[in-house]
Amino acid sequence: MKFKDQVVIVTGSTRGIGKEIAAAFAAEGAIVAITGRNLDAVTQVVDDLKQKGFRADGFSCDVANFENVQETVNKILDKHKAVDILINNAGITRDNLLLRLNETDWNDVIQTNLSGVFHFTKAVSKPMLKARKGKIINIASIIGITGNAGQANYAASKAGMIGFTKSVAKEFASRGITANTIAPGYIETEMTGQLKESTQEEILKKIPLGRFGKASDIAGVCMFLASPEADYITGQTIVVDGGMAI
Ligand code: NDP
Repeated sequence: MKFKDQVVIVTGSTRGIGKEIAAAFAAEGAIVAITGRNLDAVTQVVDDLKQKGFRADGFSCDVANFENVQETVNKILDKHKAVDILINNAGITRDNLLLRLNETDWNDVIQTNLSGVFHFTKAVSKPMLKARKGKIINIASIIGITGNAGQANYAASKAGMIGFTKSVAKEFASRGITANTIAPGYIETEMTGQLKESTQEEILKKIPLGRFGKASDIAGVCMFLASPEADYITGQTIVVDGGMAI
């Protein structure tokens, strides 16, 4: 019970990496706030966790909408009086080569992936600063470091998250709050399942460890960064990609 009674918000936790992270914290005694835009999906995840004897609350929340985020955090604070750990995980892709990339696909990705992180981090910052403790973990991507043809919007949003995290780390360090980024490589989820089989085969060839990542590979690093063992780590980007970007 490493995270007993700690309040953990995981954005975009109705499937994929976020769902795995939320389940991992719940299994260690945390009270997890499950969020996503689809209320049915949120309710399903909360019910599944509760059936296992874990503690979870559900919130339909669009990270791209600041008012919605503030209301969600207020509800969590009303009930639990604290937010100990924030995992900014919600993210989308709208891939296209720059020549074909339209303004809507640019704005949607930046508003969800980057502004969403700003919204949630800002909403939890006051209670964390007051409590003089907190862990903020942002799920970026290896693409934010290397770039990728067809993903200029996504790469910009993820690179933006890395710079944002370093700045927050500097601002909050004196209050005992850490902020770090995880940059996953290729992780098997619905998001990557949409890629063509030939593209998947090409990617696999570039991974020295010879397999795609699993959501649990990211959840494990998240738990470490949120633990007291990582108290002296802040402003860092931990690449979890099977060696793909070496
Ligand atoms: P999925 O598409 O499987 O899940 C995304 C989650 O985010 C869902 O729960 C979705 O719920 C939620 N979400 C999307 N948009 C919003 C929004 N506006 N507001 C609230 N919730 C939202 O993605 P993954 O699990 O694969 O990815 C999770 C994170 O990891 C993302 O940030 C992604 O960029 C990053 N990542 C993933 C990699 C991979 O290989 N899979 C590699 C590198 C980084 P709903 O749609 O119902 O709102």
